[in-house]
Amino acid sequence: MRIVFIGPPGAGKGTQAERLVMTYGMAHLSTGDMLRAARDGRTEVGVKADKYMSSGALVPDDIIVAIIAERLEQPDCRQGYLLDGFPRTIAQAEALDAMLSAKKTPLDVVLELKVPEEELFRRLAGRGRADDNPDVIRQRLVAYRKQTEPLLDYYGKRELLKSIEGLGTIEEIFERAKAVLDEVG
Ligand code: ADP
Repeated sequence: MRIVFIGPPGAGKGTQAERLVMTYGMAHLSTGDMLRAARDGRTEVGVKADKYMSSGALVPDDIIVAIIAERLEQPDCRQGYLLDGFPRTIAQAEALDAMLSAKKTPLDVVLELKVPEEELFRRLAGRGRADDNPDVIRQRLVAYRKQTEPLLDYYGKRELLKSIEGLGTIEEIFERAKAVLDEVG
């Protein structure tokens, strides 16, 4: 299965993504993890990306699209993958569509994890990552609303979108996600 996992910062995508890839044997492609690894390794891309990440802004599309294009060529992606944190803008979604149609490997589903904004703020403020201070959190939520939420409509029109509620226990949410993927796959 080829899946896009969408949700605001703090929705719990990372936690659910880890469980889903274990269960279904897919590659986990987290752009946040890739960027943090690049930043910590002080690669050229990592140093450039850090400026955006630490202010809560999105990294420019060309950087992130190049990272994903290279990652999708790795052999572990042949058995399917879960894209976690990508695409985050319409331009990224269009670039992904172009890559996937060239490979003749369309997406199977776009899974949205829905969580109310007050709850996101509470969760992020309690997490303590470097970009989890209140001003940066606010910026990340604004970026989500402005740049990423339009993707719900984009994928809704293509009849790929399935949404689940992200409130409840980790196990409950996981069961909801599995129900969607079992229906699709
Ligand atoms: P969260 O969803 O909790 O905000 P992520 O770990 O997915 O965190 O991403 C952290 C940061 O990395 C983002 O705030 C952004 O700066 C950058 N980033 C991750 N994925 C993308 C992407 N697809 N496009 C642009 N920037 C991205």
